[in-house]
Amino acid sequence: MRYDALVVGGSFAGLSAAMQLARARKNVCVVDAGAPRNRFAAAAHGFFGQDGVPPLKMIADARAKLLAYPNVTFIEGRVASAQADGANGFVASLDGDRQLSAGKLLLAFGVQDGFPDGIAGVRERWGTSVLHCPYCHGYEFSGRRLGVLVEAPHPPEHAMLIAEWGPTTLFLNGNNTVDDEVRGKLKARGVTIEPGRIAALEGPAKDLSGVRLEDGRIVPLEALFMVPRTRPGSPLAEQLGCAFDEGHAGPVIRIDAMKMTTVPGVFAAGDAAMQMHNATLASAEGVMAGVSLHRAMLLDA
Ligand SMILES: Cc1cc2nc3c(=O)[nH]c(=O)nc-3n(C[C@H](O)[C@H](O)[C@H](O)COP(=O)(O)OP(=O)(O)OC[C@H]3O[C@@H](n4cnc5c(N)ncnc54)[C@H](O)[C@@H]3O)c2cc1C
Repeated sequence: MRYDALVVGGSFAGLSAAMQLARARKNVCVVDAGAPRNRFAAAAHGFFGQDGVPPLKMIADARAKLLAYPNVTFIEGRVASAQADGANGFVASLDGDRQLSAGKLLLAFGVQDGFPDGIAGVRERWGTSVLHCPYCHGYEFSGRRLGVLVEAPHPPEHAMLIAEWGPTTLFLNGNNTVDDEVRGKLKARGVTIEPGRIAALEGPAKDLSGVRLEDGRIVPLEALFMVPRTRPGSPLAEQLGCAFDEGHAGPVIRIDAMKMTTVPGVFAAGDAAMQMHNATLASAEGVMAGVSLHRAMLLDA
């Protein structure tokens, strides 16, 4: 069977896009590898009507609603490669050699987070006490001791934002600098600057009680915010020849106002194709990409 559209990634962006296509009565196939970015968090925050709901429940509920449409196919798996098939469409290979054919592609495979080398204890606390976004998880740590780790090229001013939620220490980790003007602004916001290198995070299980510096001192903390370096969740966009722009945290698939990449017929949405990473925005971009893809099907016919 040749699908009208193949959506790679079945999370906030992909399921939102597929819903528009399903409701437009198109045959849509969603392939998902089952590793949404916020799977480490017990609850997602700030999503319209869903504040505090576990992210995997949100995704499972959205998938169930989508699968109520008979024109939707959902495959648990990973798209390993995709290419133009020479007939105004695409052929994709899944892990395990299964092949799928579709008129258009929608890339919604998210991003993967990279963590700083040499700091023990970051990975296991990710999503609980080591966090990427104060709007998502800052409220739960209101008034408690907070830390910010921003490494060059990210500006140390980020600490001013975090200080909105609680008393904040900015960790320079030995390789970021703060000029006098910024230092003055940080001081005015009550931010403490710690220049030393971090050795490890400490605390029971996934909780944080402090940051241990290489010189042996411990700075007591309950949450650490950082901006991880991200990479695309899949090499597919690169394989297909899509152009990227360099975002503040990593490469971002270049899309136009209609969410089409630089490769005709290939659309993209969600974290992989935007700079601000947030589930609501990923979902909204997915809606727009689904509608645009449908429109492109009509115009190309
Ligand atoms: C720890 C943490 C907590 C967060 N908390 C919040 C929050 O509270 N509120 C909020 O608004 N945002 C939150 N975010 C941001 C939010 O997770 C992302 O913005 C959102 O998940 C992006 O959705 P997406 O659909 O673009 O990508 P994802 O949700 O990452 O989904 C991508 C999907 O594509 C799949 N995939 C990848 N490659 C392939 C392939 N080749 N074939 C098939 N499938 C593939 C993946 O397995 C995954 O299921 C958080 C992020 C993190 C890291």
